[in-house]
Parts: sequence; C-alpha cells; structure tokens
Amino acid sequence: MYDIAIIGLGPAGATLARLLDSNFSIAVIDKKRSDGTGFHKPCGGLLALDAQKSISQFDLALPKDVLVDPQIFAVRTLDIKTGIIRHYQRFYINLDRYKFDLWLKSLIPEHVDIFEDSICTSIEHHNDSYHLQYISGGKTKNITAKYIIGADGANSIIRKFLYPHKKIRSYVSIQQWFLEKHLNPFYSCIFDPENTDCYSWAISKDGYFIFGGAYPKKNCRTRFENQKKQLKELGFCLEEVQKTECCLVLRPSKFNDFCTGKNNAFLIGEAAGFISASSLEGISSAINTAYYLSEVLNAKKPNPCLAYHKKTLKLRLKLYLKVLKCPFMYSPPLRKLVMSTGINSIKVIKNTNK
Ligand SMILES: Cc1cc2nc3c(=O)[nH]c(=O)nc-3n(C[C@H](O)[C@H](O)[C@H](O)COP(=O)(O)OP(=O)(O)OC[C@H]3O[C@@H](n4cnc5c(N)ncnc54)[C@H](O)[C@@H]3O)c2cc1C
Repeated sequence: MYDIAIIGLGPAGATLARLLDSNFSIAVIDKKRSDGTGFHKPCGGLLALDAQKSISQFDLALPKDVLVDPQIFAVRTLDIKTGIIRHYQRFYINLDRYKFDLWLKSLIPEHVDIFEDSICTSIEHHNDSYHLQYISGGKTKNITAKYIIGADGANSIIRKFLYPHKKIRSYVSIQQWFLEKHLNPFYSCIFDPENTDCYSWAISKDGYFIFGGAYPKKNCRTRFENQKKQLKELGFCLEEVQKTECCLVLRPSKFNDFCTGKNNAFLIGEAAGFISASSLEGISSAINTAYYLSEVLNAKKPNPCLAYHKKTLKLRLKLYLKVLKCPFMYSPPLRKLVMSTGINSIKVIKNTNK
C-alpha cells in the first residue's frame, strides 16, 4: 500500500517523483529500461525556451552527455505545396531524448520505489484506494495507492480509465532514422497539407538524420512514405533506414480537452492533454504540471483535485491560445503570404568559396 503511485517516467512523472515530499510512500511504474534496450519515446528531442525555463526554475543544469551534435540555431521551414523555403531563428537545445529522460530519472530520491520495465495494465477503484495491476518480467503484480497519477503520455491508460467517453484529437507520429549524409546538418520543419494537416520535421543528431511527422491515423504510413518520396526529390538524404519509430501524439483542439483528473486520480503532462497544438512542444508542460501537482500534494490540500485543476488554469489558457493560433499557422494561403514576405526570417548567406 503506497500513498502515491505514478504511472510513467517521462519528464512529467520523473519531475513529480523528484519533488514529492519524502513523508509520502511513493511507487513509480514505467515501461522503459535504463540499459538502452526496450522502449524509447519517439521525440524530436528539442528543448524549447519554455522547457529551458522550466528546468532553470529548479536551479538545475543540463549535463553535457544529454546533448547531441550539432546544436542548430535556425529552422529551415519548407512549404511543399508552394516550394517556399525560409529560415527562422530558433533557440532549441538539441538533445538525446532517451538520455534526457534517464537524467531526470537519476534525480529521483532513493525513498521512491521505481519499478522499471513494468507495464501498468489495469486500474480499479475500491474503498478510497486504487488497485493497479502491472506486468514485470512476465509476472503480474499488484500495488494499491491512495492517489494515482497518470504521467503515462499520449496513450494514457489512466486518462482512459478516468474519462472513458472523452475523445481528444490525436495523430500517429512516425519517425525514421537514417545515417547523416547531408553536407550541412540542419533542422527542418515541413508543411505539406496534402499528407497532413499537422506538420513534419527533420533533424540531424549525432551522425543520424531523423525524419518524422504527425499524420491523421487513416493511411498514416502511406502519407509518411509519400512525403519521404517528395523530400527525396527535394534533396533530403533518406536512404537506408536505420530504425522506424511510431507513437501517438495528442493535439488538443478544444478547451475541455485538458483533463486534470478526479477522485484522487490526477493527470499530468501529455496524459492530461498538455501539449502545444501548434508546435507539439510538450516537455515544458510536462515539467510544469508535475511541479503544480507536487505543490498541491505536498501542502496536503483538502480537495487536491480541485486545487490542482485551478493551478493549471494559466497553462490551460496558454495552450488553448496555441489551438487558436493553428488556423493562422496551418492555413495554406496565410502561410504562403507570411513566407512570401519573408517577415522575421533570416537571410542565409551562401559561401561561394565552398
Ligand atoms: C514524434 C514526437 C516528437 C516530439 N518532439 C518534441 C520536441 O522536440 N520537444 C518537445 O518539447 N516535445 C516534443 N514532443 C512532445 C513530447 O514528447 C511530450 O509532450 C512529452 O514527452 C510529454 O511528457 P510526459 O512525461 O507527459 O509523457 P511521455 O514523455 O510520453 O512519458 C510517458 C512515459 O510513460 C510510460 N508509460 C506509458 N504507458 C505506460 C504504462 N501503461 N505502464 C507503464 N509505463 C507507461 C512510458 O515509458 C513513457 O516514457 C514530441 C512528441 C512526439 C510524439
């Protein structure tokens, strides 16, 4: 019997496990392994300014070994339909996402019981406590907790348990890794309304070139392959696939898509729908919502679900503004107009000596 059980050890779960008071007995169940094998979260691994701020508020500094080569300061934005390419300044940190998660995990204090390589399979609620079943090493195990926290990302089992009838817009994200063959490493953001009403990306990372995108579920693989073909024609080096990754990604479209939990069960990070609908940036919200919930639980507030819901109001409004921003960013005529003017873009100077 634990006070608190956290499901998922991405940025949200790891931050919460680090910040909860040591008076609580805490269990964490996560399907990842620390030895590099098994599940790796497919992710662009770009730490945006908001996420950098979220980390700095804890006075933490990133260790060098979570960074990858190279660091890139501009995004090459490509609109496939119009063929317009523009470069825009960006302040991302290029990360190894798996190592980043392991670093956040390494900061969790020893009093927290971590069950890794374990998949939570079912939840029941009886007499003011939750019974969780999980599979670890081929065996089915159980724990009981007063509070449960769904930090289990886009395909959250806790969200489905709490809100079985609530649907949130989601996409299939497909990423492939290739050996880096481009002369100049780069980061690219690709708009291609024929294949997706979301966006795609490509980025160089430690000798690899990753291409991925978020696609509507129907014919997602065909859409991905169509795009790959078009990008190859535009000079992208996408030969000899090293690995293919795929996962669900949420893209909120309504204010009530953000669900924070009920009955002593809470959702943090992407499980709650906290991800930007315009950029799919989600690491900052994962860290921030974990912090908000830790404050509520550590203060032993009488109605923690309500207190946490209120604390997330500013973030919910901020992320809803990102939903409202989408029609401007994703409307082909508007994008054409903005990109044609070159407003806010960087003029790239070619070195003719090369
Ligand atoms: C392809 C892609 C690219 C992205 N690129 C970026 C980016 O560059 N920058 C950015 O800021 N955001 C990016 N995002 C969004 C970002 O990855 C997520 O919003 C963020 O990771 C959410 O953190 P989280 O801790 O809430 O969930 P997650 O990081 O998804 O972590 C959830 C964890 O829960 C565990 N888990 C899930 N189900 C179970 C279960 N049943 N039992 C046990 N454990 C379970 C998994 O091990 C997983 O690690 C991207 C998303 C995708 C899909």
